[in-house]
Amino acid sequence: MIVTVAVAPAISPSLVARAMEEAGDIWRAAGFMLMWDRQPVATNVNAAPGLITRPSALHVTIGDERGTPGKDPHVMPLGWIIFEAESPQQEVYLSHANAMMLLQASEGVVGRVSTLTITERETLLGRAMGRALAHEIGHYLLASKTHTATGVMQAKRGAAELFSRSRQGFQLQADQRRLIAARMNPTSPVARAGRVRLDDASLERKGREGR
Ligand SMILES: [Zn+2]
Repeated sequence: MIVTVAVAPAISPSLVARAMEEAGDIWRAAGFMLMWDRQPVATNVNAAPGLITRPSALHVTIGDERGTPGKDPHVMPLGWIIFEAESPQQEVYLSHANAMMLLQASEGVVGRVSTLTITERETLLGRAMGRALAHEIGHYLLASKTHTATGVMQAKRGAAELFSRSRQGFQLQADQRRLIAARMNPTSPVARAGRVRLDDASLERKGREGR
């Protein structure tokens, strides 16, 4: 699947590369290849009406928007995908600002943030952002808002899991893998059977738990 990516200019390209690598690795382990296509951020789509961007399955914007807090206003989303009616739209947003805020609030897990080198900080942020991105891509590929108790489609995550060197807990489950494979091959009976029933959440809320 081709994923186009637009990144706000203030965000480090090496951090973006780490996040894309993390998300790509999670999906590759599940048997799905993501191909990233970096694009400039469109500040005004109407400014260049003749410009046709390459059509893609999914578009990711990485920037410093904060999104909407959930029921707990302290838990800010690392990423989100908007659903319209029962269908995921092709737009995922990944919030660098919220990842940074999570890192700064997680010194109990990662140590003193002010003493981290740039590489150490980007390694941690890249893991959390990449894992959040992999989760949002899961909503898109599964065409479902459903969350699971474990695996990449688990909703609430602690800082320890998001920043950990280990990718444990971010795997795709076998039934999810089969469903996505079937959806990608529309002649299969599973794909024709229709979509999974959806819940009513329209925004993703991820972040620290227990606050
Ligand atoms: Zn979710």
